[in-house]
Amino acid sequence: MKKGKKLYEGKAKIIYATTDKDLVIQYFKDDATAFNNQKKTIIEGKGVLNNRISEHILSNLSQIGIKNHLVKRLNMREQIIKLVEIIPIEFVVRNVATGSIIKRLGIEDGTVLKEPLIEYCLKDDELGDPIISEEHILAFDWASKEEIDEVKKMILRINDFMIGMFRGVGIKLIDFKLEFGRYKANGKSEVILADEISPDTCRLWDSITDKKLDKDRFRKDLGELIPAYTEVAKRLGILHEQSNVSAVNVTKLSSVKKNRK
Ligand code: UDP
Repeated sequence: MKKGKKLYEGKAKIIYATTDKDLVIQYFKDDATAFNNQKKTIIEGKGVLNNRISEHILSNLSQIGIKNHLVKRLNMREQIIKLVEIIPIEFVVRNVATGSIIKRLGIEDGTVLKEPLIEYCLKDDELGDPIISEEHILAFDWASKEEIDEVKKMILRINDFMIGMFRGVGIKLIDFKLEFGRYKANGKSEVILADEISPDTCRLWDSITDKKLDKDRFRKDLGELIPAYTEVAKRLGILHEQSNVSAVNVTKLSSVKKNRK
């Protein structure tokens, strides 16, 4: 299977065609963006860490029966994924209130929610990904009732699994964003989990100190983003405890792998 032309470039990833019409390559860039693209920079090595962390989480989710687009990781920055038609909704799942919701609703930062809260945002950068209700999704045919019901069931299982996985390594899963897509095979269409799950798309706080181990380090200018993402990868057992991964090391690893191809 060969890599073909670029099909789509987003803020953090690029999608390339392959010689198999059902599969594409997802490339993880080092670009970091926040506040609807108003703040941006390049953080060397971020894409490599997100590729590994997302692979780890999605393959674990496959093992508990959550269908997703990951086929396999190809190298330090790329994975083969199933081509899906992305449902144009960002599904935000919250266990603890922080970020946009506390400003929007005047809730105290860090309030633990009685139950996970699912919010829907329309995927539209020009409109600033506005929050919408399930009624909007149905009114404008962004997804069907059956699809939304199926997605909600998957989300609650994903959340339970991820809370436990992170709790086991001393991390609180505060909130995260998921995307789903329609995968067409054998004349049937099914909704599967797509995109990525990484510290770019989750809020992860150390269980004891509440230290932020996610993209808020960039959003809030806290610095040390690569050490925080590396800490997440090490705790999940993706990187060895003794390996001291700096941005430079991650980049070196990436180029060694490329040269080997
Ligand atoms: N999120 C994301 N992409 C987005 C918006 C949000 O991955 O375009 C994630 C974000 O990292 C956080 C959760 O969704 O884990 C909730 O984000 P929030 O609505 O608080 O938005 P933000 O504070 O990023 O504006």
